[in-house]
Amino acid sequence: MKTPVYLDHQATTPLDPRVLEVWQRTAREHYGNPSSAGHAFGWAANKVLELAREQVAAMIGAAPDEILFTSGATEANNLALLGVARAYAGRGRDGLVCSNLEHPAVRQPMAHLANKEGWRLDVVAAAEDGVVVPETLGALVDERTLLVSLMAAQNEIGTLQMINEVGGLCRRAGAFCHVDAAQAAGRVDLDVKRAQIDLMSISGHKIYGPKGIGALYVSRRDPRVTVAPLMFGGGQERDLRPGTQNVPAIAALGEACRLAVAEREAENSRLAAMRDRLLQTLQAQLPDVQLNGHPTQRLAGNLNLSFGGVPVGRLLSALSGLAVSAGSACASGDGQSSPVLAALGVSPELAASSLRIGLGRFTTDEEVDFAAEKIVGAVSRLRASR
Ligand SMILES: *Cc1c(COP(=O)(O)O)cnc(C)c1O
Repeated sequence: MKTPVYLDHQATTPLDPRVLEVWQRTAREHYGNPSSAGHAFGWAANKVLELAREQVAAMIGAAPDEILFTSGATEANNLALLGVARAYAGRGRDGLVCSNLEHPAVRQPMAHLANKEGWRLDVVAAAEDGVVVPETLGALVDERTLLVSLMAAQNEIGTLQMINEVGGLCRRAGAFCHVDAAQAAGRVDLDVKRAQIDLMSISGHKIYGPKGIGALYVSRRDPRVTVAPLMFGGGQERDLRPGTQNVPAIAALGEACRLAVAEREAENSRLAAMRDRLLQTLQAQLPDVQLNGHPTQRLAGNLNLSFGGVPVGRLLSALSGLAVSAGSACASGDGQSSPVLAALGVSPELAASSLRIGLGRFTTDEEVDFAAEKIVGAVSRLRASR
């Protein structure tokens, strides 16, 4: 076993070697510009894009022509929210809705639309277990609502949302439904048509693909959703994301999606078993360990635990050899406690003693045993020294 052991798969995932292989081969062999319609190099590069579009679409039940490649889920979220709001501004609906658990890449564009572009924003509060109750959200959606955005799986607490119910509820109110599926895509069975979801964001590096690549699904039929572009240029990606496509990264994203679908069930049962074993060990050997988020409606590899009385900064320093995190990767740098845990009603003291553990595709039983031993030792020592 090599240390440090990586257990932070909600922050990012390592590249799958099979994805790396596709990435490298594509970079070597298909350097043509996919827009070069006059020769074989362009055709070959364009074929790479079309295969990847099929693979991404298949993962979420979309049609290939509904997939746009972006630099990641942040850009996909911004394009979806700003793009739809601007395309429909002044046409009768002026309301936006999101949850209080959204990633900053949804929260911030929503805040921008509310503060600078005149939109009415309603924020639905999740219940204490991290679940956004569809009826609670539905009470905020009416004939003035243009767009609802709800994440499929939360990046800190792993809670899965009832996006199937929310899609139908939006459709009945005539509102569009956007889903940030950066954490859920490839890990949860998603079907945008069945769930009546109109836009969905995907990130390559959360599913064992490269960083800096992602996709946005935009429904083109029943309904046809109009998105105003954020950038202008050479017309690529149906004019919505101009600039020469990152062909090797797109090929790698496609392969990452293919693998995620093919291996999802086996991987989820393996991860859930390891995660449950880790939780049982910690709770058996340590008093006062609280699981944050829903106990069962959560990502298979995710735990978010509060160790009462143990400041997480000191815990992280004591956990040498183990890469875990305090809350989200985005928030852990600034020493602030998690707004997500606060939104669930977790006290500031307890939130400040919370650890996010994310197991992944290459995590072994041996690594989980190592993590359990390290955490039990560190928490016991820190509590004894109080
Ligand atoms: C990681 C993440 C993002 C941002 O994705 P990038 O591809 O890094 O831009 C957005 N939303 C959620 C829920 C995430 O976990």
